[in-house]
Amino acid sequence: MKYVDEFRNKALVQDLAHRIREISRHPVSLMEVCGGHTLAIRKFGIPSLLPETVELLSGPGCPVCVTSREYIDRAVAYSRLNNVIIATYGDLIRVPGSSSSLEKERAAGADVRIVYSTLDALKMAEDNPSKKIIFLGIGFETTTPSSAVAIKTASQKRIANFFVYSAHKTMPPAMSALIDEGIKIDGYIGPGHVSTVAGADMYNQLAKKYNLAIVIAGFEPVDLLQSIYLLVRQFETGNHHVEVQYTRVVKPQGNLIARKLVNEIFEPRDDWWRGLGILKNSGLGIRKDFAAFDAEKNIEVETEPVREPKGCICGEVLKGIKKPYQCKLFANGCNPEDPVGACMVSSEGACHAYFRYQVYE
Ligand code: SF4
Repeated sequence: MKYVDEFRNKALVQDLAHRIREISRHPVSLMEVCGGHTLAIRKFGIPSLLPETVELLSGPGCPVCVTSREYIDRAVAYSRLNNVIIATYGDLIRVPGSSSSLEKERAAGADVRIVYSTLDALKMAEDNPSKKIIFLGIGFETTTPSSAVAIKTASQKRIANFFVYSAHKTMPPAMSALIDEGIKIDGYIGPGHVSTVAGADMYNQLAKKYNLAIVIAGFEPVDLLQSIYLLVRQFETGNHHVEVQYTRVVKPQGNLIARKLVNEIFEPRDDWWRGLGILKNSGLGIRKDFAAFDAEKNIEVETEPVREPKGCICGEVLKGIKKPYQCKLFANGCNPEDPVGACMVSSEGACHAYFRYQVYE
């Protein structure tokens, strides 16, 4: 409780908001690329504390939002196979595919189970030796280590019926792609969880190449406002670099044990991001040495042609060029109970966060 009090301290919040107003002279666009930040910024009403000069944009930080329909369609096709159990984190089952979702398949009798850890999926494999367990591995630097642990453990224990279907991604290529597209981003609110694993140094090249302000932020109101203050200060002084506000967990090198394990199991490959298309070396595929655990290499399925939902502008929302309420379907056919696009599914999706905290303009 003391921890929460410290980072939600009203006097500190007011002081930081005042300081931002004092130093902000020119219009500045700051983007968060972490779904946890998208949620926290809306939940705590951070934009209402900022001067008009500071604009906050939501970027491609929500794992289920950036994952392709093709991936969902293939997961749906896997779920229809006999003797297959799909193990997944919760949000993914509600993401619409071209004509179905894992939730619909489960209602129709498919064995789709929600897990809270990859080790639960491994245990499922050990408990069900006659079934193939396919774990849906999505997410960024934060979730990849747990997929790597599961594959390594399956290899050590010779669990032959465990597979990972990987759509793991790495964040810096997307951050570069947004700037390359010409989107006006003056600074990034750096992702706290991703950076805890991958380290602050991961962004040095990016900051240098694009002369960008990057501040890695925590998730409480004081964290967010202090990070915005540091970004505005960098912008106004022209001294752009990588700074860590979230020093209580983020180190320059990150978590070296996790990084080594990820590197042992996965290798970079090109991958598709909603809104951004295919980005070079932005995804992680399973290395040849661990191919026995790669669902794509071992389990064949036919998939339907991909169909994107009509009217959904999720791709533009993820690039920060449109706000969720600029979509004609927002709260008008698309809502968290009945999502049309992926950005409305997860609480970390921009459309979901705007809907939940009633940001309509
Ligand atoms: Fe897509 Fe729904 Fe968001 Fe519109 S409101 S962009 S349909 S997810």
